[in-house]
Amino acid sequence: MKAFEATNYYLKKAMQTMDLSDHIQHLLIQPQREVKVKIGIELDNGELANFTGFRMQHNNSRGPYKGGLRFHPTVDEDHANSLASLMTWKTAVVDVPFGGAKGGINCDPSLLSESELERVTRKFIQQIHDVIGPTVDIPAPDVNTSGREMAWMMDEYSKIHGFNPGIVTGKPLDLFGADGREEATGRGCWLICEEALKTLNRSMQDATFVMQGFGNVASFAAQFIDESGGKTLAVSDINGGIYNSEGLDIAKLMQHMKDNKTVINFPGADNITQDELLRLNCDVLMPAALGEVFTKDNADEINCKIIIEAANGPTMPEADEIFNQRNILVVPDILSNAGGVACSYFEWVQNMQHFSWTLEKTRTELDLIMQKAFNKVHQLAKSKKVSYRTAAFIIAIGRVGKTTVLRGI
Ligand code: NAD
Repeated sequence: MKAFEATNYYLKKAMQTMDLSDHIQHLLIQPQREVKVKIGIELDNGELANFTGFRMQHNNSRGPYKGGLRFHPTVDEDHANSLASLMTWKTAVVDVPFGGAKGGINCDPSLLSESELERVTRKFIQQIHDVIGPTVDIPAPDVNTSGREMAWMMDEYSKIHGFNPGIVTGKPLDLFGADGREEATGRGCWLICEEALKTLNRSMQDATFVMQGFGNVASFAAQFIDESGGKTLAVSDINGGIYNSEGLDIAKLMQHMKDNKTVINFPGADNITQDELLRLNCDVLMPAALGEVFTKDNADEINCKIIIEAANGPTMPEADEIFNQRNILVVPDILSNAGGVACSYFEWVQNMQHFSWTLEKTRTELDLIMQKAFNKVHQLAKSKKVSYRTAAFIIAIGRVGKTTVLRGI
């Protein structure tokens, strides 16, 4: 099953429980606009190179399109459409006034110099500037893009349209970025862990955690979990995993990461494989690296009580059915990792108002949004006797469907 098909499987499953006409279902499933561009640049050695860029705009009935731009060899129409759709449902679940979009450039940024990357990024914005804008479509960082690329994008867009800091979010703090944005997705995941544990009458202090990945999201989640007394037994990165049954020292691990650029060979922990990590016995398993991690081939061997989907699309539908049968509580990506887009909304609000919030205000507002969204999903899942994923989609579809009809068809 391909990525967009998997997203639509979940969407249709929720739609089956709702009273929606075929026409509305079609409108909500298909992207509103698909943009594909050719990006030609000169490489440092004088040769020419071509890349393909995408911007898929799924739905804007609740507000401007919103979603990341990723630079990766797997970027294509299918993945971008799947992720754009997830953004529509994610912004709706946490009730921020945005729609959904996604895109990026099919490239391997590790093979490009910084100046080549800058040229690709700027050329991409030249190609799509007329379909984005601070009240139209607001890109953000995603896999292999960060504040650096957002700064180039803001600058390039401003050359054409004038001063416009709200054109992208996830900007550097010194260039109209928002304090708290960097930690926001990890903080949101930590809050969701706490809420999910409460539903099983458990607390952070007596829970164990395993994370796949140790990048932006997982490293912040691990630090918040550590501060609130939770024990992280294992984490991984692209090079492999590390495990200590007594729990990892997160502060020392952060330093180890800084010094070595990888988690492996961390003193006091054993190196393990990705497969071993996913099968560890723990309370909370948090995939925070890639999509399509849980499949029908490994779902029976996962040994946790709760899965917090920090990554986008980590669970394939067959695995999701197995988790449901096994009573593993799966908190879906469109809720678990929505702290990032919630805080992007705060950044955009600050840019539009030319006013900066304190970190404390950002954290307070973020915590409120995440807790409110979790409670709504939890209540609906209980009352309708459906999974958290189906409940989250029902809430999101209800909100997007309502604005679509109110606007008139
Ligand atoms: P990141 O690039 O900072 O970190 C990714 C981590 O995954 C790194 O530790 C990397 O080494 C590891 N990784 C990469 N390939 C791997 C592999 N084959 N096996 C195991 N580990 C591998 O990315 P991030 O910002 O932490 O994002 C992680 C996930 O969360 C992504 O799926 C992203 O789409 C999703 N997400 C991120 C945000 C955000 O605000 N950063 C928001 C929503 C969703």
